[in-house]
Amino acid sequence: MASTRTPHQIRNFVAGQFIDGVATFEKRSPVDGSLVSEVHEAGRVHVNAAVDAARTALETGWAAASVQKRVTLMRRVADIIERRFEDFVAAESADTGKPLGLVREADVPRAAANFRSFADTVASAGLHSYLTELNDGRSALNYAVRKPLGVVAVVVPWNLPLLLLTWKVAPALACGNTVVVKPSEETPATATLLAEVMAEAGVPAGVYNVVHGFGPDSAGEFLTTHPGIDGVTFTGESGTGSTIMRAVAASVKPVSFELGGKNAAVVFADANLDKAVDGLARSVFLNTGQVCLCTERVYVERPIFDEVAAGLAERARALRLGRPDDPNTTTGPLISLGHREKVLSYLKLAQDEGAGVIAGGGVPALGGDLDAGAWIEPTLWTGLDNSHRTVREEVFGPVAALIPFDTEAEAVRLANDTAYGLAAVTWTSNLERGHRVAQQMRVGMSWVNTWYLRDLRSPFGGVALSGIGREGGEHSMHFYTEPTNVCVQL
Ligand code: NAD
Repeated sequence: MASTRTPHQIRNFVAGQFIDGVATFEKRSPVDGSLVSEVHEAGRVHVNAAVDAARTALETGWAAASVQKRVTLMRRVADIIERRFEDFVAAESADTGKPLGLVREADVPRAAANFRSFADTVASAGLHSYLTELNDGRSALNYAVRKPLGVVAVVVPWNLPLLLLTWKVAPALACGNTVVVKPSEETPATATLLAEVMAEAGVPAGVYNVVHGFGPDSAGEFLTTHPGIDGVTFTGESGTGSTIMRAVAASVKPVSFELGGKNAAVVFADANLDKAVDGLARSVFLNTGQVCLCTERVYVERPIFDEVAAGLAERARALRLGRPDDPNTTTGPLISLGHREKVLSYLKLAQDEGAGVIAGGGVPALGGDLDAGAWIEPTLWTGLDNSHRTVREEVFGPVAALIPFDTEAEAVRLANDTAYGLAAVTWTSNLERGHRVAQQMRVGMSWVNTWYLRDLRSPFGGVALSGIGREGGEHSMHFYTEPTNVCVQL
């Protein structure tokens, strides 16, 4: 058992120094419950010091540094992440229990890509100016100077810890902001490793700070209620977004929120069924269903309902749950026993609501150490409809409800009948229908015949309970900079 080894110490990073907190808490592996690390929880005093350090760094050079200098440093950060690739893979997998193959394929490459992509965006950003001509013969030159927002609070969740963190830190720093980062208490390691990378790359002390801890009455609340921050970029649950919004409302700080989802897929009878079922299996089960974009509602045109249900159930049963370092593992555990309690409560609720279980439905018996982990069976339900809570509330696990429909209009209505609005997928071979349906989806991201295919320049975010604002490429620059318009009469 790994619990007898000396635990790895995870410290806060403030003004270029690793510092202790007011207490420590244990980070345990969701794979087998073994001790991964001891994390130093930041108190209010440490959060205050981090915000002060970020302010000082902002005002003593970083905001005024040339774009060339910032962009060069961001590219260097990407290079060092790639050099330390396996360190990041090991840290991310230890905290989350994700299969190593998934972390190597998705999480760590995206972290490097985030720094390169936003370096490119900022390096190539154009200046927009225009002439104003008045009827009385006067004219004026208008141009907008984009300035950093300032000290940005970055609060992120546990499901894609490094990927989502760098998605925000890279554009924030490239635009000349300084940041105080609050990673999830479940996944403190890679944000801390990134601090080492920042220091090695030569990013000045105070530009990137990390405070560890929880949400309420801990580092998350201390940071988001701090008067010294200039804005909050947050990814996490919709309820937490609402709390943070209230925290910054009094001082009218800008927020960028990427929140929860209850995402729909719509499968028409004219779809390429093999491709659709493979795509559905990926969108329901990837990362044990713990991607905000994952599908939890699958609407299937009635004539193909049984075939799609059988195909998806077969793929669910083919998933291999196991240790991250086993090359046959396709699926890791949930993030924690606490989160599994939540997912299990929905498995029970689905039963109470009369669901038929066509795959999974409980806790797998994996044996040995793994029985202390947060494992759950990939689960599919039939017999539910949009009136059921299981179909309306975000579960955030490897689960989906399959529901039949008869017409295109009904499919669109059912998909849009939700308080959320993050992502949707349409599976069809009819080109016109694909475009027509995709545009009607009331979401931020609407895919056709694919899922999670991303261009980092495209807008990312959600509507309704799924968020506020968009990030990605120039959309990120709108959040991380403030324009001052200058008007000169000629
Ligand atoms: P969470 O909201 O519980 O926590 C997210 C972060 O907020 C953590 O760092 C947490 O410590 C902090 N936090 C919690 N309460 C706080 C408070 N009162 N004040 C300040 N900070 C606080 O979310 P989670 O469980 O870590 O992540 C899962 C959720 O994230 C799901 O709802 C998922 O859909 C969502 N998510 C959304 C996206 C997206 O892009 N839309 C991406 C990934 C995850």
